[in-house]
Amino acid sequence: MAPLETPVNAQLFINGEFVDASDQKTFDLSSPYSGEHVGKIAEATVVDVDTAVSAAEAAFPSWSSLSPTQRGKPLAKLAQLRQDATPELARLDALSIGRPVGTYFDGHYATMHFRYFSEAAYPTGTSSLNTPGFVNMSMRQPYGVTGVVIPWNAPLVFLSKKLAPALAAGNCMILKTSEKAPLSSHLVATMLNEAGFPPGVINILHGHGMPSGDAISRHMRIRALSFTGSVRTGRLIQKAAAESNFKHLVFEMGGKSPALVFADADLEQAAQETQSSIMFHSGQTCFANSRLYVEESVAEKFMASFKQMASARKLGDPLDKETASGPQADKAQYDTVQKYLEEGKKSGQVIETDAKMPNGEQHLFVRPTILMNQPEDSKVLKEEIFGPVVAINTFKTEEEALEKANATEYGLYASVYTKDIDRAMRVAKSFESGMVGINCTSPTGAWDMPFGGYKQSGVGRESFHDSMDDWLETKSVFMKVKGLAASTAANSVLGR
Ligand code: NAD
Repeated sequence: MAPLETPVNAQLFINGEFVDASDQKTFDLSSPYSGEHVGKIAEATVVDVDTAVSAAEAAFPSWSSLSPTQRGKPLAKLAQLRQDATPELARLDALSIGRPVGTYFDGHYATMHFRYFSEAAYPTGTSSLNTPGFVNMSMRQPYGVTGVVIPWNAPLVFLSKKLAPALAAGNCMILKTSEKAPLSSHLVATMLNEAGFPPGVINILHGHGMPSGDAISRHMRIRALSFTGSVRTGRLIQKAAAESNFKHLVFEMGGKSPALVFADADLEQAAQETQSSIMFHSGQTCFANSRLYVEESVAEKFMASFKQMASARKLGDPLDKETASGPQADKAQYDTVQKYLEEGKKSGQVIETDAKMPNGEQHLFVRPTILMNQPEDSKVLKEEIFGPVVAINTFKTEEEALEKANATEYGLYASVYTKDIDRAMRVAKSFESGMVGINCTSPTGAWDMPFGGYKQSGVGRESFHDSMDDWLETKSVFMKVKGLAASTAANSVLGR
């Protein structure tokens, strides 16, 4: 497909049409690599959220009464259109958030989700003959109008993993993009009419948390909402939902993921995978292993390998296919990382690797950095930095390693490297974490395994299996059948 002209003029997509914000307001987007003006984006208002909800509400009766196969057709078509547009989607995310095109797995991820859910929509229910005198059944039904709020770090991943199951289940949607990364979702919006979605079934809004994110969170006619982003925002959304209509919520939030490296592990493999996990996308992923605990006897050796591998990363233009790490996504993110590095200098050691800084435009690059000897209660070990910054500490015993690993309010992903299978299983069971890697680390996962976090890293799970559940209400139906072996007592709920 022909590249979109920049700056991209991204309007709101409501009821099948591109429209300006109700007050005509826009905001500008610039590339974190070159500073170039790359987008003029409509800022959705509370009125726009309301208009989108009304459009979704009007579309819901006919969309939800289609058969799963009929609803699957536009999903499958969108999978194809989107797949054809992968290079352009990668370019748009590189322009807006500096995500290197050579690391863009998001296209494949989105295709898999739209394809899978185009055929996954026969909602499950159960029936029972166990109650004397009754045939009982449960039905799974869509919520109606539902909302999605996504972050900036992998916009297409979150758009597809939430939209595809929600639509397959029969819901109509309002999706709000992140103010930092609306371009790839805008391109998806341009495909929706051609894919065959009726007007109002999917509405895509752009803008900041205030006002549109908040308006979605507290809208009385939005009955379920799935959010991926920070704990701080998750808390605001939960409060807004509680203050409005107690909408059903699914949250995927931040992380401070540990990886334990025992002395018997394959140290080269552990160093390679853990550096790749934290340095991928310049440390801006939720499940990056940002805390490494290495058994004391091998710490020096591990550290040398880790530093050498991180030093070899190629930093540069995100549009260059050879680039492994781009800049931080914007000035605010860059400043946040710098603030934590200053903190780290006060509480312990900060060691910069030898990775070569790119020539020219480099004002938002952070060189891969290792924090050493940081106290367990220091800010840099407790808070999510979201930069190419790893903390490496040591341990002497399994017990000590686990205690340190679990001493966090986060619980998204945890890893253990060891050749001792008994220890691996003990540690896996003891980790307070929604996902565990044994001799592997994030981003390793599986389509059919639940994705989500313990503690403040999330509420609920997403996956091919789990995500349909997120978007379906459950209804129990009790049908009294005359002459079906019912005793008098069995006719009363209390008597059964
Ligand atoms: P963020 O919380 O700042 O923003 C996420 C989204 O929420 C954006 O669309 C934003 O506009 C919106 N928002 C902001 N304030 C709001 C409000 N008051 N009401 C409703 N919506 C509001 O997060 P971010 O900076 O975009 O993303 C980074 C965070 O996301 C990190 O904490 C990261 O760990 C987390 N994350 C988690 C996962 C996961 O699956 N667990 C995946 C990716 C990112």
